[in-house]
Amino acid sequence: MTDNAERITWNRRLPLRYRCDVAVIGGGIAGVCAACAAAVEGAEVILVERFAVTGGNATVGGVANWSGETAGQGAIFDEIIADQEECNSIAPYRGPYARERANRTFDHEILAVILQELLLRHGVRLLLHTRFVDIQREGGRLGPAVLAGASGLEALDAEVFVDTSGGAVVARAAGCALLPPGGLGPLPPSLMFFVRELAEPVGPQLPDGWFEPVRSEGDLPMTSTWPDGPGGKALKLKVPGYDSGDTESMTALEVRARRRMWEVLDYYQRDFRGEAAPALRNQPKNAGVRNWRFGHASPIIGLRETRRIAGDYVLTVDDLRAGRAFDDGVARGVFYLDAMRPDDEQRTYLLSKDEQVVPPYHIPYRSLIARDTANLLMAGRCFSADQMALSSARVMPTCAMMGQAAGIAAAWSADRGCRPRDLDGRELRRRLEARGANLNLP
Ligand SMILES: Cc1cc2nc3c(=O)[nH]c(=O)nc-3n(C[C@H](O)[C@H](O)[C@H](O)COP(=O)(O)OP(=O)(O)OC[C@H]3O[C@@H](n4cnc5c(N)ncnc54)[C@H](O)[C@@H]3O)c2cc1C
Repeated sequence: MTDNAERITWNRRLPLRYRCDVAVIGGGIAGVCAACAAAVEGAEVILVERFAVTGGNATVGGVANWSGETAGQGAIFDEIIADQEECNSIAPYRGPYARERANRTFDHEILAVILQELLLRHGVRLLLHTRFVDIQREGGRLGPAVLAGASGLEALDAEVFVDTSGGAVVARAAGCALLPPGGLGPLPPSLMFFVRELAEPVGPQLPDGWFEPVRSEGDLPMTSTWPDGPGGKALKLKVPGYDSGDTESMTALEVRARRRMWEVLDYYQRDFRGEAAPALRNQPKNAGVRNWRFGHASPIIGLRETRRIAGDYVLTVDDLRAGRAFDDGVARGVFYLDAMRPDDEQRTYLLSKDEQVVPPYHIPYRSLIARDTANLLMAGRCFSADQMALSSARVMPTCAMMGQAAGIAAAWSADRGCRPRDLDGRELRRRLEARGANLNLP
């Protein structure tokens, strides 16, 4: 914890190397869609991403599965889907959203290429391997920001910033109000890792003595599996009890995740009891050990929740349950309330299956505007919502919708020289609808 730590003062002169209308911080699906949407409106846009590729959870995190609705999510997301279909790298569309056909798996390595080409096609200036570090704040106005990239520390200024970092890094650095965490802690992270299924047994890959092997089914963490191309499987492993907004906790989380991954693999590769290993979710029970060769683990654990920024409006689970429509509804959520218990490793949920169902609902533009600033918007999993509302709205097509709305608003705000909150949310909504977004509620 840093609260009681000794303080230092840090003061350096930096080159102000970058200026633009709209700076998007964080190139996950929300950030990519925000940057492209802003560029389509004619803004000069810079997208800052700390990794070598954009996509965030969808690529680097290995979450290769669009959940919810993939049609009518707006022109930019439509382009992504069309490119995936053209590359033959996405499961077919099976009709409008229904829980039993909620998912479309895709190849996440191909998506990384598709996203970079999309951004460049729209004229977005990309800064990869570049980490947002800090930002100045004069009154309510933010900027310039400090970046750490391959050239070292440099500054970037923009008329409007969009925080799509997932972890609310801009808002945190600026000292903006954040929303309180859920009572049991953040929604749990999961590590995605990938195996190849071989014809012959490969045998255990965990050398004896490294860790205490898992010997009983009850000691296994929640693990799900889905297909990953011919002969491949993606596995998802729940690793609860950590705070991804804290450096030491995040470090411990990654260490724990890789240990658990190895233990799970080991369990399924050994036949401790001479009987069938337990079934994994989405995979039929099969006899004996599994012939899995470890492929790779995602370089970063997948994060469902880090920090949420307090906006002009906080979307609540009651809004979702009511299927609430807003005049400034600029994104539409359809997915169920998917909140796993944050405090155990098992397949346990905060709500019963019946309680998870919600009708389609709106996300208002006001929940994308940071409450105590003049020029900060946000989109994706750090937007202004309570934890339970986030458990539905965090799915990637919905993050993409929010991103497009925030991107257009940022471009308009820069162009008109007004604050994002001075824009008319209903005008924004009309523009999104004209650009392919289905914002109809039943
Ligand atoms: C294990 C798991 C399974 C999931 N399953 C599904 C599913 O099946 N279907 C579905 O639709 N959704 C699923 N989700 C939810 C979904 O993946 C996320 O909610 C969504 O991807 C969030 O997108 P985002 O753009 O808001 O954030 P992120 O994907 O987290 O992107 C944030 C980006 O910001 C960058 N960034 C962060 N800090 C900095 C910094 N300081 N400087 C520069 N860049 C920075 C990151 O590198 C990243 O690229 C799952 C999530 C997890 C974790």
